[in-house]
Amino acid sequence: MTKDRTLILILFGALVTVGGVCVHQDTTITKQRVLIKKMYQDCPASPVEKSADKKLEEDLNREYAQNNKNFFDDRLPKDTLVVLKKNLIGKNGDKLLGSTLCIPNQTGMHCTIWLDPDMNPAEVTASLSLLHEQCHVRLWGNPGDPHGASFQACMLSLALHDAFRDIW
Ligand SMILES: [Zn+2]
Repeated sequence: MTKDRTLILILFGALVTVGGVCVHQDTTITKQRVLIKKMYQDCPASPVEKSADKKLEEDLNREYAQNNKNFFDDRLPKDTLVVLKKNLIGKNGDKLLGSTLCIPNQTGMHCTIWLDPDMNPAEVTASLSLLHEQCHVRLWGNPGDPHGASFQACMLSLALHDAFRDIW
């Protein structure tokens, strides 16, 4: 009886061990994937993060064109570049979510919008910052406070046209 019980216990233990190994392997692979993903996210020079930034940049450039059509009568310059750039610093030394520079050219002006991926960790944050910067493009050259009454009117107009539907 004792021997049988021991045998049963050994068999049961072996089954648990076999099962345990399988589970352990799956867990290990999952853990490895999570660790590799985290390692790539933590390392700014990693190819995965680079390609993720590249994809986000492409999405934001498409979004710019779509926003231009939907909310700005397609009147913003079409050759504007939306570029992801870390550590955007303002004139006062503040960290910025985004920044815009437009330079006059023969056809009007050429603009670059920089968005800081660290300050826009979620895609919706980047989308909101992009709309903010597109209002700066729209009002580029206007004198006075860049976030003054005209800018507020631009943002309110975006809100009225449902530009923030999936963002806020
Ligand atoms: Zn601004």
